[in-house]
Amino acid sequence: MAAPLTIGTVSVMPGEMKRGGIPIGKDMYARDREVPIIVYRGVEDGPILWLNGATHGDEPEGPFSIFKALAQIDPQKLRGTVVAVPAMNVQAFTAGTRGDPLDTFSYDMNRLYPGKAEGYTTERIAWAHWQAMKDHCDLQIATHSGGEHSYLAHMIFASDNPASLELAAAMGPNWTLVFRSGTGGGNPSSQIGALGKGGVTVELGGNCRTLTSDFHAIADDLAAGYLNVMRHYKMIDGPAQYAPAWRMGFQIALLAPATGMFVGNPELPFETNIPAGTIIGQIYDLYGDVIGEVKAPRDGVIFGLRSRPSVLEGQWCCFFGVIEQTVDDLISKKS
Ligand SMILES: [Zn+2]
Repeated sequence: MAAPLTIGTVSVMPGEMKRGGIPIGKDMYARDREVPIIVYRGVEDGPILWLNGATHGDEPEGPFSIFKALAQIDPQKLRGTVVAVPAMNVQAFTAGTRGDPLDTFSYDMNRLYPGKAEGYTTERIAWAHWQAMKDHCDLQIATHSGGEHSYLAHMIFASDNPASLELAAAMGPNWTLVFRSGTGGGNPSSQIGALGKGGVTVELGGNCRTLTSDFHAIADDLAAGYLNVMRHYKMIDGPAQYAPAWRMGFQIALLAPATGMFVGNPELPFETNIPAGTIIGQIYDLYGDVIGEVKAPRDGVIFGLRSRPSVLEGQWCCFFGVIEQTVDDLISKKS
């Protein structure tokens, strides 16, 4: 008889799905607070995959894509375990803001992992999540997007270790941009990478794409990636698919050269190589004159663009990727 697997308040046996939470103290009504978790434990052994959403509360792509992926999993046909945390930062999700508006000291949950048991409020939640995850996790996908002010195209920031690069490649054919992000940094993927496990941060979407069919399309795209990962690691049946090659490099944040209204170049493709000097967007003053231009500083790709036109000089306009190498062997080491 297998032993129960216990994560937070959830204790599951093989072939079971259970819901519960990671305890995070009391609220003002003296009620227990928990971060909701859903655990699918397969009948056979296999990796433990964590799907972490809404580290940032204005990024609902994580929760919606997780719901869509879970709807396609049957614990009776699963090998290994899927632990889903649709919204890691419930306070921020409630407010629809990047961080918890009541926490001005540790606002950005994606900068402070593994958290602190006796830290500021968000640090404590990160700590509770990390304690629940660290010993029961082989693979971790944290899903992000451009949130309320921007749009992000398919991009994976992978911890710089072989297990994380393999996990990135396992997301499938839509994910050809894979940038190394180091290990041991302040986000959960980086901390999982530091343990030698697979940890990736995937980016797709933004609040400019949360209406009707568009939001479904974004979430379906992400969910297809998670399911491809499960096929790659033999957690579910069926052949995984892969990109023919992966573009790796580093990002440059392009900042507004002037204050006004940012308007992107309508011809501009995302995720496609463009030459240095390409006009990415223009900034108008309130007389209608163009007072600044954002241009590609080098040959590279656009993977993120500001979606809120009002902009101040020095604010973020474009996430620009410089490709240093194209590789085709992130997966081959495994097979
Ligand atoms: Zn985010």
